[in-house]
Amino acid sequence: MATAVLTPESVLPKQAKLLINGEFVDAASGKTFETPNPATGETLAVVAEADKEDVDRAVKAARKAFEEGPWSGMNARARGRLLHRFAELVAENAEELATLDTLDNGKPIRETKNVDLPLVIDCLEYYAGWADKIEGETIPVSGPFLNYTLKEPVGVVGQIIPWNFPLLMAAWKLGPALATGCTVVLKPAEQTPLSALRLGELLCEAGFPPGVVNILPGYGPTAGAALASHMDVDKVAFTGSTEIGRLIMEMAAKSNLKKVTLELGGKAPNIVLPDADLDAAVKGAVTGIFFNQGEVCCAGSRLFVEDSIHDEFLNRLKKHAESIQVGNPLDPNTQMGAQVSEEQLERILGYCESGKKDGAKVLTGGERNTAAGSGYFMKPTIFAEVKDSMKIAREEIFGPVVSAIRFSETGDAIQRGNRTSYGLSAAVWTSDVKKAHNIARKLRAGVVWVNTYNVFDAASPFGGYKESGIGRELGKHALANYLETKSVWVAL
Ligand code: ADP
Repeated sequence: MATAVLTPESVLPKQAKLLINGEFVDAASGKTFETPNPATGETLAVVAEADKEDVDRAVKAARKAFEEGPWSGMNARARGRLLHRFAELVAENAEELATLDTLDNGKPIRETKNVDLPLVIDCLEYYAGWADKIEGETIPVSGPFLNYTLKEPVGVVGQIIPWNFPLLMAAWKLGPALATGCTVVLKPAEQTPLSALRLGELLCEAGFPPGVVNILPGYGPTAGAALASHMDVDKVAFTGSTEIGRLIMEMAAKSNLKKVTLELGGKAPNIVLPDADLDAAVKGAVTGIFFNQGEVCCAGSRLFVEDSIHDEFLNRLKKHAESIQVGNPLDPNTQMGAQVSEEQLERILGYCESGKKDGAKVLTGGERNTAAGSGYFMKPTIFAEVKDSMKIAREEIFGPVVSAIRFSETGDAIQRGNRTSYGLSAAVWTSDVKKAHNIARKLRAGVVWVNTYNVFDAASPFGGYKESGIGRELGKHALANYLETKSVWVAL
C-alpha cells in the first residue's frame, strides 16, 4: 500500500454547489450547510443545501435530457463508452476521491484506497460493459403475429444514498441507471456530500450531456422527501434505514406510484460451527463487525458460536479486537476510524448501555475511545452471553459492536439466526461442504457467505429478504430495476 497521503487542503472543494443541468449552482434558497470531519469535528466545507425547488429544477433537467437532446438519441455503445470514460477518470483520481471519503466519513484511508475505490471502479466498468448488451426477446405467440419485447429505460430516476460508503453507493446506483439510459437526480447523505459532487465534475468531464446526472446534497426530510414524492420521477432507488425505507415507499405510493427499490438494514447472523477453521472464522468475525467501524448494513452483528468452542473463540476474538488500531483515518496504519457523527456515536453508546443493563457481559470496549482522538471514536466492542431477546441482539446498531450468542445445536442456530425481521446477509463457518450448502439454503437472507465475510463483486447480486429491502443491486439483476418491458405486436 502506498504510504503517501494527499493533504485535506489539496482535495477539499473550492465550490460545493448543486449540480443541475450540467452546471454547479447555488441552492434556490441560498441556504448552505456545513459538513464536518468526524475525526476532528472541524468543518470541511460549506455545501449548498438543496430543497424542493432545486429538486423541481433538477427533475426538469433530467426529464429534458431523457426526452430530448443527445442522451435520448445516443446509441447504446456510445453510452457504454461514456461510462467507460467515467470509470477511467475515477481511476485517475482515485487517491483524491479516497481521501475525500475518508475526510467526510471518518473511515480509514487504507479502506477507501484498497477497498472502496477498487469496487467503485469495477462497478462502473462492469455496467459500462452492459450498456450495449441489453436485449429484448421474440416470443412465439399464437396467430399471425410477430411479438417481441423492447427493454426501455424507466425514465427519470431519484436516487437517495447513505453515508457509510458514499462513493460506492453512488456507483451502485449510477452504474445500472446510466447503462440502461435513464437520467438521474442523486441525493447523497447530508453527512457525506463531498465525493458525490466530485463525481459530478468527473461525469461532466467524461462528456455526459447536461441533465443526465444531477447531484443535490441536502437533508432527507426536505430534498430527499421532495424527490421521493415528486410527480415526475419514474423510479426511486433508496439505500438507508428500514424506517426511512418505509417512508420512501409510502411517498412513492401517495404520489405517482413510482417504482421503488430499497436496500435497507440488517442484523446478520454469523454462525460458527465447531468444525470450522477457527483462525479463519475469528478473522471473518473481526471483518464482519469491525470493517468500516461497523457502519455496514450487512455487518455480522449476531455472532452465534457453538458451545464447545465458545470460550476459546471469544478469547481469540477479544485479542484481535484489542489489537485493532483506532485513530486518525488519514494514517495509513489506522484500521478503524471515527464513527460518522456525534449522533451516531451516541446511538451506539446507547445500545452499549442497553446491553449492559440487560445483563450481557462486556468482553471488551463498550465505551467511547477518547485515546484515539477528539472525534467520534468508539472502542471495538464485544458483548458475550447475549440472549436473543435483548435489544442488542434484535436491533441494528450500525457500529463496531458484536453480540456473541451461544448455541449447542446447528438447527437451533439457524432457526434463531432467521428469527429477525431483517434478511440482508448471513454467514456460516464449517469445513463440512455438505453442511455448508444445506445451511446456505436454510438461511433467509439475500447474501450468504460460507467461510468468508464481506465479499463483493459487481457481477453478483446484493439485496435483502424480508424487511431488508426490495429488489437487488449489482449484477444483471440491477438492470431490471431501471428497465421497462414493452411488448410489441405486429400483424403479419
Ligand atoms: P441512516 O440512519 O443510516 O442515516 P437514513 O435512512 O436516515 O440512514 O438515511 C439514508 C438517506 O436517506 C440519506 O440520504 C438521508 O438524507 C435520506 N433520508 C432521511 N430521511 C429521509 C426522508 N424522510 N425522506 C427521504 N430521504 C430521507
